[in-house]
Amino acid sequence: MKDFKPADFRQQFPALSQGQCYLDSAATALRPQEVIDATLNFYMQEGATVHRSQHRAAQTLTEEYEQARKRVAQWINAPRSEDIIWTRGTTESVNLVSQGWLRPQLQPGDEIIVSQAEHHANLIPWLIVAEQCQARVVTLPIDEQGLPDISALPAILNSKSRLLALGQMSNVTGGAPDLARAVELAHANGTPVFIDGAQGAVHCPADMQALDIDFYAFSGHKLYGPTGIGVLYGKTALLEDMQPWQGGGKMLTQASMTGFTPQTVPHRFEAGTPNIAGVIGLSAALKWLETVDMPAAEIYAQHLATLAEQQLAELAGFRSFRSQNSSILSFDIAGVHHSDLVTLLAEQGIALRAGQHCAQPLIEAMGISGTLRASFAPYNNENDVSRLVAAVKYALTLLAD
Ligand code: PMP
Repeated sequence: MKDFKPADFRQQFPALSQGQCYLDSAATALRPQEVIDATLNFYMQEGATVHRSQHRAAQTLTEEYEQARKRVAQWINAPRSEDIIWTRGTTESVNLVSQGWLRPQLQPGDEIIVSQAEHHANLIPWLIVAEQCQARVVTLPIDEQGLPDISALPAILNSKSRLLALGQMSNVTGGAPDLARAVELAHANGTPVFIDGAQGAVHCPADMQALDIDFYAFSGHKLYGPTGIGVLYGKTALLEDMQPWQGGGKMLTQASMTGFTPQTVPHRFEAGTPNIAGVIGLSAALKWLETVDMPAAEIYAQHLATLAEQQLAELAGFRSFRSQNSSILSFDIAGVHHSDLVTLLAEQGIALRAGQHCAQPLIEAMGISGTLRASFAPYNNENDVSRLVAAVKYALTLLAD
């Protein structure tokens, strides 16, 4: 039975046991005890690696490891677990697609459409591959709400458009574009779509088949899982076309001094001993999430962000860049530099982030120098809101002196 009771939920996070005011979940989420236990248990009890040794512990661990792949596939409704590739995180997933799939086919003059709202992880790898192939990155601009302007797509798509790269949710505003519409327009032009799910996955799991997404990436650490583990999903036909990006052990079936035969998908993209503890921890996070009423948890986190926004709005100069119904509250205060304010908040024990949030083109398009970002998660509570508001007020009195 799925449920969500705020106090019970919060209790599962040992990192909050000392009453920390953690408002930085858009950077990384905290881990519940179950995820910590699963990871710890692996290091305490498992003496094995995967897909290599023949002994019994290695066989059992390999089964568990492949079971985790199935769990991820189910979670995003991917048609086959073989289409799930383990990576270090979203960043590595984007680099794998840009170098392994796009680069071999990219011709001079080809275009990669990237929205202006993207995190650098979903921009820089495309800029790199564009430069390598004399192709170019074309901007999908943002609209008045700071969202990628999907209505501008038809005018941008053309016979040279090789890929559309779009985020499921902005890590600055919390805005979520209409993915279904974007995919529909891109596909009508024969252009595949890469979705960066790093920020969106924890708020609303995306359905690969319903949305007909070509590539999708997310990171374990934003989803209550460990750092250093992430996922790339790709449609089978596209993955079959993708070249291995890293060579090494276990990504091949035969090797000689003159060449090698690559393994089947997904193993050909997973050279070297993988992050087994990460896979087990991520699997534990997804299993644990199956017991959580995620829509109710999301509404609660959004409610906290609304409360904070309403209370902070009483301060002179307060400006919110929060997208409607988001649990991410980006804001600034006229005449106060975000880095001064965040330092004074940190001194009062409030954990949040200020700056450009690895999204410089978006910040520039918004005409600002940066924001403070209080990102709420379902383990926060109204006390966190009060502490944030009180800390901002106090910091402003110090700055006014
Ligand atoms: N995209 C977005 C929208 C993000 O918020 C992040 C993480 N800040 C990333 C990509 C990159 O994720 P990672 O650092 O886990 O690879």
